[in-house]
Amino acid sequence: MPLVVQKYGGSSLADADRIRHVARRVAAERDAGSSLVVVVSAMGDTTDHLIELARQITRDPDPREMDRLLVTGEYQSSALVAMALHTLGVPAVSLTGAQAGIRTDGSHGRARIANVDPARIVREIGAGNVVIVAGFQGSTADTYAAGEVTTLGRGGSDTTAVALAARLRADRCEIFTDVEGIFTADPRVVPEARLLPVIGYEEMLELAHQGAQVMQVRAVELGWVNDVEIAVRSTFSDHPGTRIKEDPDVEQRNKVRGLATDRNVAKVTVVAVPDRPGIARTLFVPLADAGINVDVIVQNVSHDGTTDVSFTVPRSELARARRLLEPVVGEMGARELTADESVAKVSIVGAGIQNAPGYAARMFGTLADEGINIEMISTSEVRITCMINEADLQRAARALHRAFQLERPEPEVAAAR
Ligand code: ASP
Ligand code: MG
Repeated sequence: MPLVVQKYGGSSLADADRIRHVARRVAAERDAGSSLVVVVSAMGDTTDHLIELARQITRDPDPREMDRLLVTGEYQSSALVAMALHTLGVPAVSLTGAQAGIRTDGSHGRARIANVDPARIVREIGAGNVVIVAGFQGSTADTYAAGEVTTLGRGGSDTTAVALAARLRADRCEIFTDVEGIFTADPRVVPEARLLPVIGYEEMLELAHQGAQVMQVRAVELGWVNDVEIAVRSTFSDHPGTRIKEDPDVEQRNKVRGLATDRNVAKVTVVAVPDRPGIARTLFVPLADAGINVDVIVQNVSHDGTTDVSFTVPRSELARARRLLEPVVGEMGARELTADESVAKVSIVGAGIQNAPGYAARMFGTLADEGINIEMISTSEVRITCMINEADLQRAARALHRAFQLERPEPEVAAAR
């Protein structure tokens, strides 16, 4: 019997009707002869509501208690999906992340999976059950307090699903969501965006990093490392969606595969920093320790022994970053810290960018033709990112989508594989 791991996101489980719909999908897959492990997110906006509830109690919740609160969202949905399957006559059992053998380190709120002990899941499958696993969570194994529940960070159910698919050597790993797959751009920003039948791991990783919100970054990473092919599909249609996999046809494809847009950006500038060794460390270590992702970093040319350092952080983390940095900025003798929240990032991504010159020039030229000012630039081997004014984001994205001909369908040979 083929083993299939399916993951259903929060919007696919938002109410009783949708839970019943998911149960019917799972039952159909089982009738087709598969064994199933089904990973679920919390219903709808449950996680957001729980976070908001905690915030009404305290500005600074204890991370351990926060995890104990957040795991309950996925407890609910997993039990309800199991019940819905029972009403269809399908034997099913729901498990917490800990019961499913997901062992993590002890970093509450952003725990990393240390290993997966599949014994219980394997037993349940052997007994004929569909196994419903509460996503986004695990428990600690070898610290002084074994068995503490942890969460894997927002969107972590994707990571649960890919980790289980890897460990169980599943025949398929399917991420069900409320969109049909991965598009060349966010269709809400670029209406011309086109569904990609296939995308490589590295490209998907860059898109996810740069703001494509369909898949959690870590889940893509985990899939890549373990060579798990991941299908991203819609819960509400039979469309095959997008396959994330090593892509042998990369040479025949459009060199730019997609673009990402991200409004969750703020630019921080530390003005008139004394130009001496150790300054960058003093600024960035506190941010790293707090788990705040710093992106584009620019240090200007030094005048009179001082320099300006600018970088971006997620806008949602700006307040925290400010609180951490303001004392540091004073101590190091910099003049001030300023922040700009009216910025956004647009990125082009494609494995073909790395060995073909001219992509940066074409990107900058396209933005120039639109009269859009570029404030900062960053690149990787397969990505070019420009930071621009947020008000220009949609115009920039549509112009780039046209300039790189992303609306053109895939070549036949590639699509057929
Ligand atoms: N419920 C969690 C969240 O909203 C995990 C997930 O949906 O994957 O972030
Ligand atoms: Mg989610």
